[in-house]
Amino acid sequence: MNILVTGGAGFIGSAVIRYLINETEHHVLNVDKLTYAGNLESLISVSDHARYHFVQADICDHASLTRLFSEFQPDVVMHLAAESHVDRSIDSPAEFIHTNIVGTYTLLEVSRKYWQNLSKIEKSSFKFHHISTDEVYGDLDGITDLFTETTPYLPSSPYSASKASSDHLVRAWHRTYGLPVVVTNCSNNYGPYHFPEKLIPLMILNALDGKPLPVYGNGRQIRDWLFVEDHACALYRVATEGLVGETYNIGGHNEKQNIDVVKTICKILDELKPRLNGQTYESLITFVNDRPGHDLRYAIDASKIERELGWKPQESFETGLRKTVEWYLNNLEWCHRVQDGSYQRESLGEAV
Ligand code: NAD
Repeated sequence: MNILVTGGAGFIGSAVIRYLINETEHHVLNVDKLTYAGNLESLISVSDHARYHFVQADICDHASLTRLFSEFQPDVVMHLAAESHVDRSIDSPAEFIHTNIVGTYTLLEVSRKYWQNLSKIEKSSFKFHHISTDEVYGDLDGITDLFTETTPYLPSSPYSASKASSDHLVRAWHRTYGLPVVVTNCSNNYGPYHFPEKLIPLMILNALDGKPLPVYGNGRQIRDWLFVEDHACALYRVATEGLVGETYNIGGHNEKQNIDVVKTICKILDELKPRLNGQTYESLITFVNDRPGHDLRYAIDASKIERELGWKPQESFETGLRKTVEWYLNNLEWCHRVQDGSYQRESLGEAV
């Protein structure tokens, strides 16, 4: 198949493309604007492959997308391009509205026109896979509640509201125009090639520099963590075997309080790279004002994808986190280069 991936130079998109090139025979076109979050270096291991192609383009650019669809003739679109960082969405929401909502609308329109002109057989096998987040559901009150595919949407941040909007657009294009879509909503990802503004890489890199480890509020917020390569595998499963019109929640069955995530990172670093001053990394933890609108708890019920498509995560949080810390220790050059001097791991939200 020809698989068009948007946002393939990002954290999850690059894991998807590495998976598609290494584990399948499909041809891949990576369409990415290369914002601060997009790094072609994350794709170096596959970029010379004959089945891999890259075009720098904006998903809001109707004309470029139309031309790319016509040239590449995709069988499947995997749509990951987005502005993805909650703190940035609090500081400057405009780009989130533009890329996540207008960009998804533009991609849907181009996909619809392209799909309508396919032959009957091609039409029936085409699929538009929209990749979204569990943050659209808002947060959970109870300790045992889980987000299911039918949980009502209640987004809290400009980021999650923009993703919720895009999910609604995708489902409307299915209901109104018959475009064959599948939607996935996934929990927090972590793993190699994660841009250093996100919690786990931020903590690893700050710790190695002996800088404070800023934890929002009391650190008791609960997130469900999924290793990015498990997510890439799940996305491929849904893109190829998911039923049209369906939504699949994807999660790691790893609910952790943020403070425990940070303490676990510190313990792994104490073991792998002890501090020269003999102190523990945990002594660097500093509590900072909470993020405005901070959701308390997310937890995913991922039983549908396991039951219907036979997918479940391979990594436990312990094994995945150790792999991640080891990866960062071995790839500090990548971190320095992607940061490019313009981002120095400062906190971007109001809560500093
Ligand atoms: P990321 O920020 O690492 O990557 C986003 C990519 O999109 C970058 O390569 C960027 O250059 C590209 N991009 C941004 N605007 C674009 C535009 N207008 N046109 C074309 N390309 C553009 O994000 P990520 O963490 O890899 O997330 C990918 C997708 O998965 C997003 O849609 C996000 O909402 C969703 N998601 C992320 C998580 C997570 O934990 N990171 C969890 C669930 C869902």
